[in-house]
Amino acid sequence: MSQFLRQESPPHFEDHREYRPYLRRDFRYVCAYCERTEAALGGEEFFEIDHFRPRVRFPDLVTHYPNLYYACGRCNRHKGGKWPPPDLLAKGFRFADPCAEDMYVSHLRETADGYLRALTACGEYTRDQIGLNRPVVVNWRLERRSAATEARIMENTVAHLEILLATVSDLAARDEVQQQLATIRLQIARLRKRFSL
Ligand SMILES: [Zn+2]
Repeated sequence: MSQFLRQESPPHFEDHREYRPYLRRDFRYVCAYCERTEAALGGEEFFEIDHFRPRVRFPDLVTHYPNLYYACGRCNRHKGGKWPPPDLLAKGFRFADPCAEDMYVSHLRETADGYLRALTACGEYTRDQIGLNRPVVVNWRLERRSAATEARIMENTVAHLEILLATVSDLAARDEVQQQLATIRLQIARLRKRFSL
């Protein structure tokens, strides 16, 4: 659904954990792989720093900011130290890089039942190695889809109420409509934050 564009320019740190606040902002508080949000998973403590090129294979990149990705604990553990061997790489099996491409456009397609269908070898490798079709993530996609519909309906309601408000002169009635508008806007904002819509 998205590609992450880094905007932060942190200084160099010897301990990669020091990059965490920069990563949170660059990854907009969502997991680089499954795209679940901090708001949905219960907060920052459920997120970890992933080394896109794993530490065991690429020790020189352990504190290299462009190699650090923000990921939920589950995706990070599934990915672990995996990296495709040369014979698979030659056939296109690799991890999609969410900072370089939108994997949900180029390599994967979400089906009606919330599962991911692979469009490419890269999509297949990424999906299967990180377990992106695990049931809890499939449910999350279905919930996100419902939330997007709900948010659109509420935005239409806001638009109608705003038109109505322009025709109301009674102060008490105006107050009431404005309170309703504020409540609906708050609900929309919560949904957008929770599902990164
Ligand atoms: Zn994740």
